[in-house]
Amino acid sequence: MQKIGPSLYTDKDAPYMLTLDFHPTGRHFLQIPGPSPVPDRVLRAMSLPTIDHRGPEFAALGLKVLADMKQIFQTRHPVMIYAASGTGAWEAALANTLSPGDQVLMYESGHFATLWQKLATRLGLKTEFIGLPGAEGWRRGVQPQMIEERLKADTQHAIKAVCVVHNETSTGVTSNIAAVRKAIDAAKHPALLMVDTISGLASAEYRHDDWGVDVSVSGSQKGLMLPPGISFNALSPKAIEASKTARLPKAFWAWDEMIEMNKTGYWPSTPNTNLLYGLSEACDMLLSQGLDAVFARHVRWGEGVRAAVKAWGLEIQCADAAVYSPVLTGVMMPDGVDADAVRKLIYERFDCSLGTGLGKVKGKMFRIGHLGDCNDLTLMAALSGCEMGLKLSGVKLAGSGVLAAMDYFAAHPVPMQLQKAA
Ligand SMILES: *Cc1c(COP(=O)(O)O)cnc(C)c1O
Repeated sequence: MQKIGPSLYTDKDAPYMLTLDFHPTGRHFLQIPGPSPVPDRVLRAMSLPTIDHRGPEFAALGLKVLADMKQIFQTRHPVMIYAASGTGAWEAALANTLSPGDQVLMYESGHFATLWQKLATRLGLKTEFIGLPGAEGWRRGVQPQMIEERLKADTQHAIKAVCVVHNETSTGVTSNIAAVRKAIDAAKHPALLMVDTISGLASAEYRHDDWGVDVSVSGSQKGLMLPPGISFNALSPKAIEASKTARLPKAFWAWDEMIEMNKTGYWPSTPNTNLLYGLSEACDMLLSQGLDAVFARHVRWGEGVRAAVKAWGLEIQCADAAVYSPVLTGVMMPDGVDADAVRKLIYERFDCSLGTGLGKVKGKMFRIGHLGDCNDLTLMAALSGCEMGLKLSGVKLAGSGVLAAMDYFAAHPVPMQLQKAA
């Protein structure tokens, strides 16, 4: 038998075998930017017995989570909840509002924007993928003036939708969605605005109605602190209107049946009952703490982690301080250091999972998640794992990031008005 991880063994009779010493002692540090660590409260809520999804108790749960999610998206309009990962909700947004051959303007902010563009192409949409050239494109947020210029040139209004990612999880760069809305309005263009906030929602500030978003897309396993398995569309009246004449095929994803059934707290097909228990509990935690406190908490964690990266003398993937992600930090490796080898060492030696570099930045950087069920001390532990792993990998560090992060957290207590316990 050969050991291939702290708790994973391989054997010729059992190629992959999880042993009972799964994370032998203490806890595993799941520091990838989603799935994020799930609070015990949420796990306990999910362990309740599964109930009849057509019975009276279910309707109360359904109505509650639908109302809670409107608060989380900051919208007065319907929110769709799908038994699917975020990718499904990407497809739902496009399939409900567009017709075969429609032109869609998408912005390349990183790997997830690229995957959404590929999905749109597979659905039969004509995608135009714009962005800053070269490596710089994946280090900065969406450039609203590029969208404005492109839409102004589209005098025939052939472009039916603009798609952008709010928090690019592959890089740790956010985008200013209100500014994208302004750009569309300045061009006096009727295109729908669709936003992927799969990793932004419930951790980075997000306002579906105020920002004039037509379809917001999100998922359960990032800021909402749930396991993977549910995803969301938040709609605008304009998006609902568009769905009435859109001709891309849609059945499972169709909003019309969902909107009708959701009015009484039910779904057309069997929803993810136990994940909805978890969603209800997570919303109670987030909403009782208050979204402003939740956003401030992530901003502060991001500051602490970046203090560590700067003290190490390493570069942060996001090159624009105005759009640093509060959800995760991308750490660039010096030339000649394989980021995945560093990650592997940290995983094997210290039982800590870090996010891999995706797409164009594979092997060049790793990602530290600061979302989900974290606090200052769990982040300090993760940073210690990183610092030890970097040193063991032979990376020359300018100084101690752990000391810098401790100094940051100690000197920046959470303001009193944001301390209300969840
Ligand atoms: C995680 C993520 C996705 C993909 O969602 P899945 O749940 O893996 O299908 C898409 N976009 C962003 C920004 C993400 O963070």
